[in-house]
Amino acid sequence: MKQTARILPKVYLVGSSEISNSGDCMVYLVDCKSELALIDAGVSSDINKISNNIKRLGLKPQNISTLFATHCHIDHVGGAASFRENYGCKTIAHELDGNAIEQADRGLTGAFVYHQDLIPCKIDVRLSGSDGKIRVGDKTFRWLHTPGHTPGSISILLNTSSGNILFAQDVHGPFMPEFNSKISDWVKSVKKLVKLDFDILAEGHLGIYRPKDRAVEYINSCLTRYGYR
Ligand SMILES: [Zn+2]
Ligand SMILES: [Zn+2]
Repeated sequence: MKQTARILPKVYLVGSSEISNSGDCMVYLVDCKSELALIDAGVSSDINKISNNIKRLGLKPQNISTLFATHCHIDHVGGAASFRENYGCKTIAHELDGNAIEQADRGLTGAFVYHQDLIPCKIDVRLSGSDGKIRVGDKTFRWLHTPGHTPGSISILLNTSSGNILFAQDVHGPFMPEFNSKISDWVKSVKKLVKLDFDILAEGHLGIYRPKDRAVEYINSCLTRYGYR
């Protein structure tokens, strides 16, 4: 996708390698009426492009109240400190990835892959356990701990009247010792994801898959690639 996109009536793509920064993950924005929720923050501490993309949709970046970090990698949290500082949003991450982000660990955050340093970011809400709900404005987000790619990876499910969307980010891996990846955990995680009731899979880099059958086919192709099917 070469430009910002409306994926569902209140869900938008506002960042990606094509529309914000070549190193960016896919960055999603959910309009929660009085507040905005951002899912991941891209690679760079310069958040102007993502902010401008949000403005072009007629929304105000100052209204971002919540930033979900799906995991600790720099391509997902490189802009987190800037968003938090500029817009006063609270950052949310699983406790098993929280320290890597706060301490800008070069190995665990994958910063060494991008040859740049992560600006450390305070995590305001540390998720613990395997599953929970977070209310933002008029929306309820369900998070699930889906370790494998990193120990503290989470996936987020949002049910809307127009469809259910699963933000599962780095479903495709990779798995590296530097990330503390654990492929056996990933297999369990993706098998848990395919059982969820969703219509759209919003991936972290590789696109948006719908309907569910196509998303499951994609997830299964990942399992096949790593020899787990
Ligand atoms: Zn990524
Ligand atoms: Zn990653």
